[in-house]
Amino acid sequence: MLPKPLRSFVAEIFAGLPVGAALCAAALLLIFAFVPMAQSLKSDRKFAIAQNDRRQLEDRIAVRLGRNETLQGLLNRFGLRPGSAQDLLQKLYSSVDFRRMPRDQAFSMIVDPVDRTVRAVEFVMQEYLVRASVGLAGWSVERQELANVSGVHQVRVRVTDNFSQSAARAGLTLAQVAELQRIFSAELDLLADLALGDEVLVLSPQRQYLDGKVAFEPMAAARVLRGGRMLDAFAFKSSDGTRQYYDADGHLLPRSFLAAPVKFDRISSTFDLARPDPASGVLRPHEAVDYQAAHGTPVVAIGSGVVEFVGSRAGYGLMVELKHAGGYGSSYAHLSRTAPGLEAGNRVNLGEVIGDVGQSGYATGPHLHFEFALDGEKLDFLSVKIPGPESLSGYQLIQFRREQVKWAAALHGSAVRVVQTPASPWQ
Ligand SMILES: [Zn+2]
Repeated sequence: MLPKPLRSFVAEIFAGLPVGAALCAAALLLIFAFVPMAQSLKSDRKFAIAQNDRRQLEDRIAVRLGRNETLQGLLNRFGLRPGSAQDLLQKLYSSVDFRRMPRDQAFSMIVDPVDRTVRAVEFVMQEYLVRASVGLAGWSVERQELANVSGVHQVRVRVTDNFSQSAARAGLTLAQVAELQRIFSAELDLLADLALGDEVLVLSPQRQYLDGKVAFEPMAAARVLRGGRMLDAFAFKSSDGTRQYYDADGHLLPRSFLAAPVKFDRISSTFDLARPDPASGVLRPHEAVDYQAAHGTPVVAIGSGVVEFVGSRAGYGLMVELKHAGGYGSSYAHLSRTAPGLEAGNRVNLGEVIGDVGQSGYATGPHLHFEFALDGEKLDFLSVKIPGPESLSGYQLIQFRREQVKWAAALHGSAVRVVQTPASPWQ
């Protein structure tokens, strides 16, 4: 057990700390207590053997790669036979990324005190202690992660001028900004749409090593607060090792379909199987969503796909029909014009402008009549849940939820404004 003065010292520290901090302190104390303890055990053992043999077991020589020197050169310098050096290098190549090795990488050469042959090579790289040692069967390499304390690195970008400059000042890298832009691309253009006072929050796991070095992992969660709206993204690594980002419901981001095909003023008619006809009052099914918007407002493809029809059709007026993967289809009617050159067979991307809002065909005012179908059957786009491989399901969804709860709590804890906004931004 700990000696008495140390015990009361520890008790005093813990008494003044909240539980989380106390646990961290305990973890640190354990590391600091055990590392020297383990080392002293090791040296005690060595000392005993050394006394028996009346000689030291090994000499440890600290060296650095010289200017323009390769590891092979260094091994030659220590008298390793070419065959043995080749064996060692091959084994190292499979466990160390040499492209990331600094030019002046430090090594510990462990040599036999009597015949001065190299018995082992040790070095610290990429948060690992690498030890290669030679035996009867040649060289073998072990890699051991260095002691560290894990935590969460949080970057909060408060937009003061434009997003890219605010993000750079807050410490996001260009790659992170590009990734955020991609993840949220179905909902907004981060670089163009964020305005003064909007916020982006990014959480990444971090590991702090005893030497003070900090290693960051790719972002685990991100939140965009835009006006009163909130968008979340959570990283999830599937069993095949690919890391992708999903919304709170486990739908892959960016979404395969946009939330709406047009920037609308209001929804003037919803999907309704018995709606009184605006002109005659007769009950007629309206298997579509009507988005009211000004004449000339751009209409965009709800998802990427192939143009199936461009032209006029009786009551629909000027319209575009798209076919998407998975048997989905979308159509856009009452347009005032279609995008120049757009014709059947063209590929269109999610968000690409395909025409403008108008009042062609049978329409009482300018609006977009939007239909969405699966295998030819019309669906209520406002309540449809897109299934398929793009959404997590089964055991993967359970795993995702487990991780997501943790990160959502972290996002929640750090963004007070979130309390007033709806739980899921995608509905
Ligand atoms: Zn309509």
